[in-house]
Amino acid sequence: MATSSPIEPSFRESVDLMFNRAVALMDLPPGLVEKIRVCNATYTVRFGVRLRGDIKTFVGYRSVHSEHMEPVKGGIRFSMGVNQDEVEALAALMTYKCALVETPFGGSKGGLCIDPREYEEHELERITRRFAYELAKRDLIHPSQNVPAPDMGTGEREMAWMADQYARMNTTDINAKACVTGKPLNAGGIHGRVEATGRGVQYALREFFRNPEDVAAAGLSGSLDGKRVIVQGLGNVGYHAAKFLSDEDGAKVIGIIERDGALFNAEDGLDVDDVFQWLRANGGVKGYPKATYVENGAAVLEEACDILVPAALEGVINLGNAERIQAPLIIEAANGPVTAGADEILRKKGCVIIPDMYANAGGVTVSYFEWVKNLSHIRFGRMQRRQEEARHQLVVDELEALSDSMGNAWSLSPSFKAKYLRGAGELELVRSGLDDTMRTAYQSMREVWHSRDDVTDLRTAAYLVSIDRVAQSYRAKGL
Ligand code: NAD
Repeated sequence: MATSSPIEPSFRESVDLMFNRAVALMDLPPGLVEKIRVCNATYTVRFGVRLRGDIKTFVGYRSVHSEHMEPVKGGIRFSMGVNQDEVEALAALMTYKCALVETPFGGSKGGLCIDPREYEEHELERITRRFAYELAKRDLIHPSQNVPAPDMGTGEREMAWMADQYARMNTTDINAKACVTGKPLNAGGIHGRVEATGRGVQYALREFFRNPEDVAAAGLSGSLDGKRVIVQGLGNVGYHAAKFLSDEDGAKVIGIIERDGALFNAEDGLDVDDVFQWLRANGGVKGYPKATYVENGAAVLEEACDILVPAALEGVINLGNAERIQAPLIIEAANGPVTAGADEILRKKGCVIIPDMYANAGGVTVSYFEWVKNLSHIRFGRMQRRQEEARHQLVVDELEALSDSMGNAWSLSPSFKAKYLRGAGELELVRSGLDDTMRTAYQSMREVWHSRDDVTDLRTAAYLVSIDRVAQSYRAKGL
Protein backbone atom coordinates (compact mmCIF):
# COMPACT_ATOMS: atom_id res chain seq x y z
CA MET A 1 0.00 0.00 0.00
CA ALA A 2 1.41 3.31 -1.07
CA THR A 3 0.62 5.30 2.05
CA SER A 4 3.16 7.90 3.00
CA SER A 5 2.15 8.93 6.48
CA PRO A 6 2.75 6.92 9.66
CA ILE A 7 -0.65 7.96 10.98
CA GLU A 8 -2.47 6.68 7.92
CA PRO A 9 -4.78 3.79 8.83
CA SER A 10 -4.35 0.45 7.07
CA PHE A 11 -6.43 -0.32 3.98
CA ARG A 12 -8.90 -2.40 5.98
CA GLU A 13 -9.16 0.28 8.67
CA SER A 14 -9.72 2.83 5.94
CA VAL A 15 -12.62 0.81 4.53
CA ASP A 16 -14.03 0.39 8.04
CA LEU A 17 -13.79 4.14 8.69
CA MET A 18 -15.77 4.85 5.53
CA PHE A 19 -18.28 2.15 6.49
CA ASN A 20 -18.63 3.64 9.99
CA ARG A 21 -19.19 7.12 8.63
CA ALA A 22 -22.06 5.85 6.52
CA VAL A 23 -23.59 3.54 9.06
CA ALA A 24 -23.74 6.38 11.62
CA LEU A 25 -26.40 7.91 9.37
CA MET A 26 -28.51 4.74 9.39
CA ASP A 27 -30.89 3.34 11.90
CA LEU A 28 -29.61 -0.21 12.24
CA PRO A 29 -29.25 -2.31 15.38
CA PRO A 30 -25.57 -2.20 16.52
CA GLY A 31 -25.37 -5.99 16.46
CA LEU A 32 -26.39 -6.12 12.81
CA VAL A 33 -23.94 -3.34 11.94
CA GLU A 34 -21.13 -5.33 13.51
CA LYS A 35 -22.22 -8.47 11.66
CA ILE A 36 -22.15 -6.67 8.34
CA ARG A 37 -18.81 -4.93 9.00
CA VAL A 38 -16.70 -7.88 10.09
CA CYS A 39 -14.95 -10.25 7.77
CA ASN A 40 -16.42 -13.75 8.26
CA ALA A 41 -13.26 -15.75 7.65
CA THR A 42 -9.83 -15.56 6.13
CA TYR A 43 -8.00 -18.67 5.07
CA THR A 44 -4.21 -18.49 4.89
CA VAL A 45 -2.33 -21.18 3.03
CA ARG A 46 1.37 -21.84 2.75
CA PHE A 47 2.30 -24.33 0.08
CA GLY A 48 5.48 -25.49 -1.53
CA VAL A 49 6.24 -25.84 -5.24
CA ARG A 50 9.38 -27.45 -6.57
CA LEU A 51 11.01 -24.85 -8.84
CA ARG A 52 14.45 -24.60 -10.35
CA GLY A 53 15.74 -27.51 -8.28
CA ASP A 54 14.50 -26.12 -4.98
CA ILE A 55 11.26 -25.99 -3.01
CA LYS A 56 9.77 -22.54 -2.89
CA THR A 57 7.08 -21.74 -0.33
CA PHE A 58 4.25 -19.36 -1.24
CA VAL A 59 1.71 -17.63 0.99
CA GLY A 60 -1.85 -17.16 -0.25
CA TYR A 61 -5.15 -15.95 1.16
CA ARG A 62 -8.84 -16.24 0.44
CA SER A 63 -11.04 -14.06 2.54
CA VAL A 64 -14.82 -14.33 2.78
CA HIS A 65 -16.32 -11.11 4.04
CA SER A 66 -20.03 -11.79 3.84
CA GLU A 67 -22.16 -14.81 2.96
CA HIS A 68 -25.53 -13.07 3.00
CA MET A 69 -25.65 -14.31 -0.58
CA GLU A 70 -23.82 -17.26 -2.07
CA PRO A 71 -21.66 -17.89 -3.90
CA VAL A 72 -19.30 -15.25 -2.67
CA LYS A 73 -17.29 -13.50 -5.33
CA GLY A 74 -14.06 -11.59 -5.72
CA GLY A 75 -10.81 -11.49 -7.62
CA ILE A 76 -7.50 -13.18 -6.96
CA ARG A 77 -4.50 -10.87 -6.95
CA PHE A 78 -0.88 -11.82 -7.61
CA SER A 79 1.36 -9.19 -6.05
CA MET A 80 4.16 -8.90 -3.52
CA GLY A 81 1.99 -6.44 -1.59
CA VAL A 82 -0.68 -9.04 -0.80
CA ASN A 83 -1.35 -9.50 2.91
CA GLN A 84 -4.29 -10.37 5.15
CA ASP A 85 -5.26 -6.77 5.81
CA GLU A 86 -5.39 -6.00 2.09
CA VAL A 87 -7.34 -9.12 1.17
CA GLU A 88 -9.90 -8.47 3.92
CA ALA A 89 -10.34 -4.84 2.84
CA LEU A 90 -10.86 -5.94 -0.76
CA ALA A 91 -13.32 -8.66 0.30
CA ALA A 92 -15.37 -6.11 2.24
CA LEU A 93 -15.44 -3.81 -0.79
CA MET A 94 -16.71 -6.76 -2.85
CA THR A 95 -19.68 -7.21 -0.50
CA TYR A 96 -20.69 -3.57 -0.88
CA LYS A 97 -19.94 -3.53 -4.61
CA CYS A 98 -22.07 -6.59 -5.35
CA ALA A 99 -24.95 -5.15 -3.32
CA LEU A 100 -24.70 -1.79 -5.08
CA VAL A 101 -24.83 -3.21 -8.60
CA GLU A 102 -27.25 -5.98 -7.64
CA THR A 103 -25.16 -9.00 -8.51
CA PRO A 104 -26.39 -11.83 -6.28
CA PHE A 105 -23.12 -12.53 -4.49
CA GLY A 106 -21.48 -12.14 -1.11
CA GLY A 107 -18.03 -10.58 -0.95
CA SER A 108 -14.70 -12.38 -1.12
CA LYS A 109 -11.14 -11.77 -2.31
CA GLY A 110 -7.94 -13.71 -2.66
CA GLY A 111 -4.31 -13.07 -3.13
CA LEU A 112 -0.98 -14.74 -3.61
CA CYS A 113 2.21 -13.12 -2.43
CA ILE A 114 4.22 -13.33 -5.62
CA ASP A 115 5.79 -11.13 -8.27
CA PRO A 116 4.55 -12.90 -11.42
CA ARG A 117 7.22 -11.20 -13.53
CA GLU A 118 9.86 -13.29 -11.80
CA TYR A 119 8.54 -16.58 -13.19
CA GLU A 120 8.34 -18.35 -16.52
CA GLU A 121 4.88 -19.22 -17.81
CA HIS A 122 5.18 -22.94 -17.03
CA GLU A 123 6.32 -22.10 -13.49
CA LEU A 124 3.42 -19.73 -12.98
CA GLU A 125 1.06 -22.41 -14.19
CA ARG A 126 2.31 -24.87 -11.58
CA ILE A 127 2.11 -22.28 -8.82
CA THR A 128 -1.39 -21.17 -9.85
CA ARG A 129 -2.67 -24.73 -10.15
CA ARG A 130 -1.29 -25.59 -6.73
CA PHE A 131 -2.89 -22.50 -5.17
CA ALA A 132 -6.18 -23.35 -6.91
CA TYR A 133 -5.94 -26.92 -5.59
CA GLU A 134 -5.51 -25.65 -2.03
CA LEU A 135 -8.52 -23.37 -2.38
CA ALA A 136 -10.75 -25.85 -4.20
CA LYS A 137 -10.04 -28.50 -1.56
CA ARG A 138 -11.76 -26.23 0.95
CA ASP A 139 -14.61 -25.09 -1.35
CA LEU A 140 -12.95 -21.69 -1.66
CA ILE A 141 -13.22 -22.21 -5.40
CA HIS A 142 -16.64 -23.66 -6.17
CA PRO A 143 -19.48 -22.74 -8.59
CA SER A 144 -22.03 -22.41 -5.80
CA GLN A 145 -19.77 -21.38 -2.92
CA ASN A 146 -16.92 -19.16 -4.00
CA VAL A 147 -16.18 -17.88 -7.50
CA PRO A 148 -12.86 -16.05 -8.07
CA ALA A 149 -12.05 -13.71 -10.95
CA PRO A 150 -8.99 -11.83 -12.22
CA ASP A 151 -7.47 -8.91 -10.37
CA MET A 152 -4.10 -7.20 -10.32
CA GLY A 153 -1.41 -9.49 -11.74
CA THR A 154 -3.87 -12.12 -13.00
CA GLY A 155 -5.96 -12.45 -16.14
CA GLU A 156 -7.61 -14.92 -18.48
CA ARG A 157 -4.64 -17.26 -18.47
CA GLU A 158 -4.61 -17.75 -14.69
CA MET A 159 -8.40 -18.12 -14.60
CA ALA A 160 -8.22 -20.86 -17.26
CA TRP A 161 -5.65 -22.77 -15.16
CA MET A 162 -7.79 -22.43 -12.05
CA ALA A 163 -10.97 -23.54 -13.82
CA ASP A 164 -9.17 -26.52 -15.29
CA GLN A 165 -7.70 -27.44 -11.91
CA TYR A 166 -11.17 -27.38 -10.36
CA ALA A 167 -12.57 -29.47 -13.24
CA ARG A 168 -9.83 -32.08 -12.77
CA MET A 169 -10.74 -32.36 -9.10
CA ASN A 170 -14.50 -32.49 -9.78
CA THR A 171 -14.83 -34.57 -12.90
CA THR A 172 -18.60 -35.05 -12.67
CA ASP A 173 -19.56 -31.48 -11.87
CA ILE A 174 -21.52 -30.34 -14.90
CA ASN A 175 -21.26 -26.74 -13.72
CA ALA A 176 -17.51 -26.84 -13.21
CA LYS A 177 -16.87 -23.95 -15.61
CA ALA A 178 -18.84 -21.62 -13.33
CA CYS A 179 -16.21 -22.04 -10.59
CA VAL A 180 -14.19 -19.05 -11.85
CA THR A 181 -14.99 -16.07 -14.09
CA GLY A 182 -12.77 -14.03 -16.38
CA LYS A 183 -11.84 -17.14 -18.37
CA PRO A 184 -10.82 -17.02 -22.03
CA LEU A 185 -13.67 -17.49 -24.49
CA ASN A 186 -12.52 -20.96 -25.48
CA ALA A 187 -12.56 -22.06 -21.85
CA GLY A 188 -16.09 -20.89 -21.05
CA GLY A 189 -15.54 -17.16 -20.89
CA ILE A 190 -17.83 -14.44 -22.16
CA HIS A 191 -17.38 -11.71 -24.77
CA GLY A 192 -16.58 -8.39 -23.17
CA ARG A 193 -15.15 -9.62 -19.87
CA VAL A 194 -11.58 -8.49 -20.49
CA GLU A 195 -12.68 -4.92 -21.23
CA ALA A 196 -15.50 -4.96 -18.66
CA THR A 197 -13.99 -3.01 -15.77
CA GLY A 198 -12.58 -0.27 -18.00
CA ARG A 199 -15.82 -0.23 -19.99
CA GLY A 200 -17.69 0.15 -16.71
CA VAL A 201 -15.50 3.15 -15.80
CA GLN A 202 -16.48 4.72 -19.14
CA TYR A 203 -20.19 4.01 -18.58
CA ALA A 204 -19.93 5.41 -15.04
CA LEU A 205 -18.43 8.66 -16.33
CA ARG A 206 -20.99 8.88 -19.12
CA GLU A 207 -23.79 8.55 -16.58
CA PHE A 208 -22.15 11.14 -14.33
CA PHE A 209 -21.96 13.59 -17.24
CA ARG A 210 -25.63 12.96 -18.06
CA ASN A 211 -26.43 14.78 -14.83
CA PRO A 212 -25.42 18.44 -15.19
CA GLU A 213 -26.11 19.12 -11.52
CA ASP A 214 -23.50 16.52 -10.55
CA VAL A 215 -21.01 17.79 -13.12
CA ALA A 216 -21.44 21.27 -11.67
CA ALA A 217 -20.81 19.91 -8.16
CA ALA A 218 -17.33 19.02 -9.40
CA GLY A 219 -16.92 22.52 -10.82
CA LEU A 220 -17.02 21.15 -14.37
CA SER A 221 -19.43 21.66 -17.23
CA GLY A 222 -20.33 20.12 -20.56
CA SER A 223 -19.62 16.58 -21.65
CA LEU A 224 -16.65 14.22 -21.60
CA ASP A 225 -15.52 15.65 -24.92
CA GLY A 226 -12.22 17.47 -24.49
CA LYS A 227 -11.87 16.70 -20.79
CA ARG A 228 -8.24 16.29 -19.68
CA VAL A 229 -7.64 12.91 -18.09
CA ILE A 230 -4.72 11.50 -16.07
CA VAL A 231 -4.62 7.73 -15.60
CA GLN A 232 -2.50 5.80 -13.14
CA GLY A 233 -1.83 2.17 -14.12
CA LEU A 234 -2.08 1.09 -17.76
CA GLY A 235 -3.09 -2.46 -16.91
CA ASN A 236 -6.35 -4.17 -17.67
CA VAL A 237 -8.58 -1.54 -16.05
CA GLY A 238 -6.57 1.60 -16.79
CA TYR A 239 -5.80 0.71 -20.39
CA HIS A 240 -9.39 -0.02 -21.34
CA ALA A 241 -10.79 2.98 -19.47
CA ALA A 242 -8.25 5.35 -21.06
CA LYS A 243 -8.70 3.86 -24.52
CA PHE A 244 -12.50 4.04 -24.51
CA LEU A 245 -12.60 7.54 -23.03
CA SER A 246 -10.20 8.90 -25.64
CA ASP A 247 -11.36 6.88 -28.68
CA GLU A 248 -15.10 7.05 -28.09
CA ASP A 249 -15.83 10.06 -25.89
CA GLY A 250 -13.28 12.60 -27.08
CA ALA A 251 -11.47 12.87 -23.75
CA LYS A 252 -7.80 13.84 -23.89
CA VAL A 253 -5.47 11.58 -21.91
CA ILE A 254 -2.67 13.97 -20.90
CA GLY A 255 -0.90 11.81 -18.32
CA ILE A 256 -0.19 8.10 -17.85
CA ILE A 257 1.51 6.97 -14.64
CA GLU A 258 3.17 3.57 -14.47
CA ARG A 259 5.50 1.73 -12.08
CA ASP A 260 8.67 3.24 -13.51
CA GLY A 261 7.48 6.82 -13.92
CA ALA A 262 4.95 8.82 -15.87
CA LEU A 263 4.35 10.24 -19.33
CA PHE A 264 2.89 13.68 -19.69
CA ASN A 265 1.75 15.69 -22.69
CA ALA A 266 -0.71 18.41 -21.76
CA GLU A 267 -0.63 19.99 -25.19
CA ASP A 268 -1.45 17.14 -27.59
CA GLY A 269 -2.47 14.37 -25.24
CA LEU A 270 -1.17 10.79 -25.45
CA ASP A 271 -2.04 8.00 -27.86
CA VAL A 272 -3.17 5.34 -25.38
CA ASP A 273 -2.65 2.37 -27.69
CA ASP A 274 0.77 3.57 -28.72
CA VAL A 275 1.87 3.94 -25.08
CA PHE A 276 0.36 0.55 -24.28
CA GLN A 277 2.37 -1.13 -27.06
CA TRP A 278 5.51 0.62 -25.83
CA LEU A 279 4.84 -0.51 -22.25
CA ARG A 280 4.37 -4.10 -23.38
CA ALA A 281 7.49 -4.09 -25.49
CA ASN A 282 9.75 -2.31 -23.00
CA GLY A 283 8.33 -3.24 -19.60
CA GLY A 284 7.95 0.41 -18.64
CA VAL A 285 7.12 3.84 -20.00
CA LYS A 286 10.64 5.28 -19.80
CA GLY A 287 12.09 6.19 -23.19
CA TYR A 288 8.72 6.68 -24.88
CA PRO A 289 9.53 9.34 -27.45
CA LYS A 290 6.29 11.29 -27.85
CA ALA A 291 5.84 12.68 -24.34
CA THR A 292 7.74 14.12 -21.39
CA TYR A 293 8.96 11.42 -19.03
CA VAL A 294 8.63 12.14 -15.30
CA GLU A 295 10.67 9.84 -13.10
CA ASN A 296 8.62 10.46 -9.96
CA GLY A 297 5.38 9.19 -11.48
CA ALA A 298 3.26 9.84 -8.40
CA ALA A 299 3.91 13.58 -8.80
CA VAL A 300 1.79 13.52 -11.96
CA LEU A 301 -1.25 12.65 -9.81
CA GLU A 302 -0.97 16.24 -8.64
CA GLU A 303 -1.01 17.83 -12.11
CA ALA A 304 -3.94 19.96 -13.24
CA CYS A 305 -6.55 17.91 -15.11
CA ASP A 306 -10.33 17.48 -15.20
CA ILE A 307 -10.56 13.80 -14.33
CA LEU A 308 -8.09 11.70 -12.38
CA VAL A 309 -8.36 7.94 -12.87
CA PRO A 310 -6.30 5.99 -10.35
CA ALA A 311 -6.39 2.47 -11.83
CA ALA A 312 -3.40 0.75 -10.26
CA LEU A 313 -3.45 0.10 -6.55
CA GLU A 314 -4.73 1.26 -3.18
CA GLY A 315 -3.57 4.11 -0.98
CA VAL A 316 -2.00 6.23 -3.72
CA ILE A 317 -3.95 9.35 -2.76
CA ASN A 318 -3.25 9.72 0.91
CA LEU A 319 -2.55 12.19 3.69
CA GLY A 320 0.80 12.88 2.07
CA ASN A 321 -0.51 14.26 -1.24
CA ALA A 322 -4.29 14.84 -0.96
CA GLU A 323 -3.89 18.55 -0.32
CA ARG A 324 -1.97 18.95 -3.58
CA ILE A 325 -4.37 17.00 -5.81
CA GLN A 326 -5.86 19.45 -8.30
CA ALA A 327 -8.35 17.22 -10.13
CA PRO A 328 -11.94 18.29 -9.38
CA LEU A 329 -13.22 14.82 -10.26
CA ILE A 330 -11.67 11.49 -9.29
CA ILE A 331 -13.03 8.17 -10.47
CA GLU A 332 -11.68 5.28 -8.41
CA ALA A 333 -11.02 2.67 -11.07
CA ALA A 334 -8.72 0.81 -8.66
CA ASN A 335 -9.93 -0.45 -5.30
CA GLY A 336 -9.19 1.88 -2.40
CA PRO A 337 -6.91 4.39 -4.18
CA VAL A 338 -8.06 7.18 -1.85
CA THR A 339 -7.48 6.62 1.87
CA ALA A 340 -10.10 7.64 4.42
CA GLY A 341 -7.95 10.60 5.50
CA ALA A 342 -7.42 11.79 1.95
CA ASP A 343 -11.12 11.35 1.25
CA GLU A 344 -11.91 13.85 3.99
CA ILE A 345 -9.37 16.39 2.72
CA LEU A 346 -10.62 16.08 -0.85
CA ARG A 347 -14.26 16.38 0.14
CA LYS A 348 -13.47 19.61 1.99
CA LYS A 349 -11.77 20.91 -1.14
CA GLY A 350 -14.95 20.24 -3.13
CA CYS A 351 -13.51 17.38 -5.15
CA VAL A 352 -16.13 14.87 -6.31
CA ILE A 353 -15.08 11.23 -5.96
CA ILE A 354 -16.89 8.49 -7.85
CA PRO A 355 -16.23 5.64 -5.42
CA ASP A 356 -14.51 2.35 -6.22
CA MET A 357 -17.39 0.11 -5.22
CA TYR A 358 -19.37 1.68 -8.04
CA ALA A 359 -16.69 2.82 -10.48
CA ASN A 360 -14.97 -0.53 -11.00
CA ALA A 361 -18.07 -2.73 -10.65
CA GLY A 362 -18.07 -3.46 -14.39
CA GLY A 363 -15.81 -6.43 -13.77
CA VAL A 364 -18.05 -8.21 -11.32
CA THR A 365 -21.13 -7.32 -13.36
CA VAL A 366 -19.83 -9.07 -16.48
CA SER A 367 -18.45 -11.85 -14.30
CA TYR A 368 -22.03 -12.34 -13.15
CA PHE A 369 -23.13 -12.66 -16.78
CA GLU A 370 -20.34 -15.18 -17.39
CA TRP A 371 -21.38 -17.22 -14.36
CA VAL A 372 -25.00 -17.26 -15.57
CA LYS A 373 -23.81 -18.26 -19.04
CA ASN A 374 -21.79 -21.14 -17.58
CA LEU A 375 -24.74 -22.35 -15.52
CA SER A 376 -27.13 -22.13 -18.44
CA HIS A 377 -24.63 -23.75 -20.81
CA ILE A 378 -25.58 -21.50 -23.71
CA ARG A 379 -24.16 -18.35 -25.21
CA PHE A 380 -26.22 -15.19 -24.80
CA GLY A 381 -28.15 -14.32 -27.95
CA ARG A 382 -27.92 -17.77 -29.52
CA MET A 383 -31.67 -18.35 -29.46
CA GLN A 384 -32.91 -14.84 -30.32
CA ARG A 385 -30.43 -13.28 -32.70
CA ARG A 386 -31.63 -14.55 -36.07
CA GLN A 387 -35.27 -14.34 -35.05
CA GLU A 388 -34.73 -10.69 -34.13
CA GLU A 389 -33.05 -10.08 -37.48
CA ALA A 390 -35.94 -11.77 -39.34
CA ARG A 391 -38.51 -9.56 -37.61
CA HIS A 392 -36.52 -6.42 -38.40
CA GLN A 393 -36.23 -7.57 -42.01
CA LEU A 394 -40.04 -7.78 -42.15
CA VAL A 395 -40.35 -4.14 -41.13
CA VAL A 396 -37.72 -3.02 -43.64
CA ASP A 397 -39.34 -5.04 -46.45
CA GLU A 398 -42.73 -3.59 -45.63
CA LEU A 399 -41.42 -0.01 -45.56
CA GLU A 400 -39.60 -0.46 -48.85
CA ALA A 401 -42.69 -2.01 -50.51
CA LEU A 402 -44.73 0.94 -49.30
CA SER A 403 -42.16 3.37 -50.66
CA ASP A 404 -42.20 1.52 -54.01
CA SER A 405 -45.98 1.72 -54.20
CA MET A 406 -45.73 5.49 -53.67
CA GLY A 407 -43.24 5.92 -56.49
CA ASN A 408 -40.08 5.55 -54.40
CA ALA A 409 -41.27 8.20 -51.96
CA TRP A 410 -38.37 7.51 -49.57
CA SER A 411 -35.46 5.20 -49.06
CA LEU A 412 -33.83 3.86 -45.94
CA SER A 413 -30.17 4.76 -45.62
CA PRO A 414 -27.81 1.79 -46.00
CA SER A 415 -26.14 2.56 -42.66
CA PHE A 416 -29.51 2.61 -40.87
CA LYS A 417 -30.44 -0.69 -42.50
CA ALA A 418 -27.14 -2.32 -41.59
CA LYS A 419 -27.48 -1.29 -37.96
CA TYR A 420 -31.18 -2.03 -37.66
CA LEU A 421 -31.00 -5.41 -39.32
CA ARG A 422 -28.16 -6.71 -37.16
CA GLY A 423 -29.43 -8.82 -34.26
CA ALA A 424 -27.58 -8.49 -30.98
CA GLY A 425 -24.74 -10.92 -30.39
CA GLU A 426 -23.22 -11.74 -27.03
CA LEU A 427 -20.92 -8.71 -26.93
CA GLU A 428 -23.75 -6.27 -27.63
CA LEU A 429 -25.90 -7.93 -24.98
CA VAL A 430 -23.09 -7.87 -22.42
CA ARG A 431 -22.41 -4.19 -23.05
CA SER A 432 -26.10 -3.41 -22.87
CA GLY A 433 -26.44 -5.25 -19.56
CA LEU A 434 -23.37 -3.50 -18.21
CA ASP A 435 -24.56 -0.08 -19.31
CA ASP A 436 -27.94 -0.67 -17.73
CA THR A 437 -26.30 -1.80 -14.49
CA MET A 438 -24.00 1.21 -14.31
CA ARG A 439 -26.82 3.65 -15.00
CA THR A 440 -29.18 2.07 -12.50
CA ALA A 441 -26.56 1.87 -9.74
CA TYR A 442 -25.53 5.48 -10.32
CA GLN A 443 -29.12 6.63 -9.98
CA SER A 444 -29.55 4.68 -6.75
CA MET A 445 -26.49 6.43 -5.24
CA ARG A 446 -27.45 9.77 -6.69
CA GLU A 447 -30.91 9.68 -5.22
CA VAL A 448 -29.48 9.27 -1.73
CA TRP A 449 -26.81 11.91 -2.38
CA HIS A 450 -29.36 14.52 -3.40
CA SER A 451 -32.27 13.62 -1.19
CA ARG A 452 -30.55 13.68 2.20
CA ASP A 453 -28.96 16.76 3.77
CA ASP A 454 -26.63 14.59 5.83
CA VAL A 455 -25.18 12.85 2.76
CA THR A 456 -22.73 15.11 0.98
CA ASP A 457 -20.75 12.70 -1.17
CA LEU A 458 -21.23 9.76 -3.51
CA ARG A 459 -19.18 7.35 -1.42
CA THR A 460 -21.37 7.73 1.64
CA ALA A 461 -24.41 7.43 -0.62
CA ALA A 462 -23.02 4.22 -2.13
CA TYR A 463 -22.39 2.74 1.31
CA LEU A 464 -25.91 3.65 2.44
CA VAL A 465 -27.46 1.88 -0.54
CA SER A 466 -25.25 -1.18 -0.15
CA ILE A 467 -25.44 -1.56 3.61
CA ASP A 468 -29.20 -1.22 3.47
CA ARG A 469 -29.42 -4.01 0.89
CA VAL A 470 -27.10 -6.31 2.85
CA ALA A 471 -29.09 -5.60 6.02
CA GLN A 472 -32.34 -6.43 4.23
CA SER A 473 -30.82 -9.65 3.04
CA TYR A 474 -29.75 -10.68 6.54
CA ARG A 475 -33.16 -9.71 7.92
CA ALA A 476 -34.94 -11.77 5.27
CA LYS A 477 -32.93 -14.92 5.71
CA GLY A 478 -32.07 -14.65 9.40
CA LEU A 479 -28.52 -14.88 10.64
P1 NAD B 1 -3.23 -5.10 -13.77
O1 NAD B 1 -2.23 -5.93 -13.09
O2 NAD B 1 -3.76 -5.52 -15.09
O3 NAD B 1 -2.68 -3.61 -13.97
C1 NAD B 1 -2.14 -2.85 -12.95
C2 NAD B 1 -1.26 -1.80 -13.63
O4 NAD B 1 -0.79 -0.88 -12.65
C3 NAD B 1 -0.03 -2.41 -14.30
O5 NAD B 1 0.14 -1.86 -15.58
C4 NAD B 1 1.11 -2.04 -13.36
O6 NAD B 1 2.35 -1.91 -14.01
C5 NAD B 1 0.61 -0.70 -12.81
N1 NAD B 1 1.19 -0.36 -11.53
C6 NAD B 1 1.53 -1.17 -10.50
N2 NAD B 1 2.04 -0.47 -9.49
C7 NAD B 1 2.02 0.82 -9.87
C8 NAD B 1 2.41 2.03 -9.26
N3 NAD B 1 2.94 2.04 -8.06
N4 NAD B 1 2.24 3.17 -9.95
C9 NAD B 1 1.70 3.18 -11.19
N5 NAD B 1 1.31 2.06 -11.82
C10 NAD B 1 1.47 0.90 -11.17
O7 NAD B 1 -4.40 -4.90 -12.71
P2 NAD B 1 -5.91 -4.52 -12.98
O8 NAD B 1 -6.67 -5.76 -13.12
O9 NAD B 1 -5.99 -3.47 -14.01
O10 NAD B 1 -6.31 -3.90 -11.56
C11 NAD B 1 -6.02 -2.56 -11.20
C12 NAD B 1 -6.92 -2.14 -10.06
O11 NAD B 1 -8.28 -2.31 -10.46
C13 NAD B 1 -6.76 -2.93 -8.76
O12 NAD B 1 -7.01 -2.07 -7.68
C14 NAD B 1 -7.87 -3.95 -8.85
O13 NAD B 1 -8.28 -4.43 -7.58
C15 NAD B 1 -8.95 -3.13 -9.51
N6 NAD B 1 -9.99 -3.91 -10.18
C16 NAD B 1 -9.70 -4.78 -11.19
C17 NAD B 1 -10.73 -5.49 -11.81
C18 NAD B 1 -10.48 -6.38 -12.99
O14 NAD B 1 -11.47 -6.84 -13.59
N7 NAD B 1 -9.26 -6.66 -13.40
C19 NAD B 1 -12.04 -5.33 -11.36
C20 NAD B 1 -12.32 -4.44 -10.34
C21 NAD B 1 -11.28 -3.74 -9.76
